[in-house]
Amino acid sequence: MEYNRLGKSELKVSKLCFGSLTISPLQRNLSIKESENILLHAFDHGVNFIDTAALYENYHQIRGALKQWGRQKIHIATKSYAYSRDTAKSSLEEALMGLETDYIDLFMLHEQESEHTLRGHQEAIDFFLTKKKEGVIGSFGISTHFISGVRAAANHGAIDVVHPIVNHQGLGIVDGDMEEMLEAIGEAKKKDMGIFAMKPLGGGHLLSDFQKSFDYVLNLKDLDSIAVGMQSREEVEVNAGIFSNEKISNDTIKKIQAQPRTLQIADWCQGCGRCVNRCNMNALSLQGEKGKKRALVDPKRCVFCGYCGKVCPDFCIKVI
Ligand code: SF4
Ligand code: SF4
Repeated sequence: MEYNRLGKSELKVSKLCFGSLTISPLQRNLSIKESENILLHAFDHGVNFIDTAALYENYHQIRGALKQWGRQKIHIATKSYAYSRDTAKSSLEEALMGLETDYIDLFMLHEQESEHTLRGHQEAIDFFLTKKKEGVIGSFGISTHFISGVRAAANHGAIDVVHPIVNHQGLGIVDGDMEEMLEAIGEAKKKDMGIFAMKPLGGGHLLSDFQKSFDYVLNLKDLDSIAVGMQSREEVEVNAGIFSNEKISNDTIKKIQAQPRTLQIADWCQGCGRCVNRCNMNALSLQGEKGKKRALVDPKRCVFCGYCGKVCPDFCIKVI
């Protein structure tokens, strides 16, 4: 397994980062025991970096594995939508308490779009930067699905790490294509920022191009680490093998490809439209006659992030 310094930070992270959305209540909703088992298996295979978020509500799935393996040996990235001092303070406290730790290696603002959104979050940014000075946060960053988000981070001056979408088809990038995204990433890299990519498999859409998708991201020299969602010991073994240049058998790849993700919307949907407004990928719409409208997903656009499920008042949506 390759390890890289995340930009100018002190963090030396494994190239393969454990993306924990997949085990969280928004997706597979594994038990604490199952989650710990998979995480420890990943650590055993050289992974020392976990990505989570306040939104995933899964700190309880991670803290036991951290304790068992040794907190100082694992780096944690988390993120929140904090926009003010108070929301920043409460999201940091939630992470510290939830993970039973006294520091977070990388704290990020979730889903930042541009310099305008960053400006709107300045109070939270100021709070996180103070906490960085105090040593409670190791590095500060943003996650983004936008090229304009990466550019804004590169020009901001106080952002250490950017967490953008990178996959060979540019799936999930909202405002352009992969070529433009790589240009923006190059600008950030020149400023010695850490680049920690997400969605190398396009949220599952590129499973049929499994090897090609990983070859693409692993050959991009600007990426320090890549978050990959994993939900079984087998997936951990395959991903760790790929990231360590091992040849993966066709049979194993076929098994992984046979577990595609889907978004299910229950038939008790009331058609309130909250999920439609929440989806950045424009993958949801309300269909049907007036008074009987229900949410419908366009599977070609959906990247299975599960964020829509979080806003449904009737718990209709599940990624499985
Ligand atoms: S439909 Fe839901 S799971 Fe799919 S991309 Fe939109 S928010 Fe994410
Ligand atoms: S938020 Fe839930 S109830 Fe409202 S439209 Fe979406 S799935 Fe239906």
